[in-house]
Amino acid sequence: MNTITDLARAYHFAAVRHTNQKRKGKAGEPYINHLTEVTELVASATGGGDIDLMIAAVLHDIIEDTGVTKADLEHAFGGRVAGFVSEVTDDKSLPKAERKRLQIEHASHISPEAKIIKLADKTANLHSLRKSPPADWPADQVEDYITWSQKVVAACRGTNKWLEQRFDEAVATFEIR
Ligand code: ZN
Repeated sequence: MNTITDLARAYHFAAVRHTNQKRKGKAGEPYINHLTEVTELVASATGGGDIDLMIAAVLHDIIEDTGVTKADLEHAFGGRVAGFVSEVTDDKSLPKAERKRLQIEHASHISPEAKIIKLADKTANLHSLRKSPPADWPADQVEDYITWSQKVVAACRGTNKWLEQRFDEAVATFEIR
């Protein structure tokens, strides 16, 4: 069983693997800032009682964005953590538009824990988009991203009211036509 020590290990594991990555926003924040925000949201939403879930939140982008595999995660943090991360991982061999379509389709079928990670991820991404949008994104690209996020979140609703409210508040900070 994972403990708070393993959560600390997960943060360092993620910081090392994501070292050279930055967020897409014009401020170019270190990638780890996104992982700490998602994990804080997950912890606040759930009271922090499920350490595996918080570890999975720390590691939620690690298969997609680094060379770490599901088997590596199984070995380092156990099958439950690896399973949650795998549930929120896109198949990168597919074209981007197809991956985005599949996220909407798959979101209603994933576990409640994976839905919580997804809700926190989409909320954190809207916070970033508000604070530091990518320099090369025109307004309609921002709007398309918000609309797509709303569709993914719609498939996750009924899982965690507090987190769903945080997402709705984040959407409300944008002026959408
Ligand atoms: Zn993420």
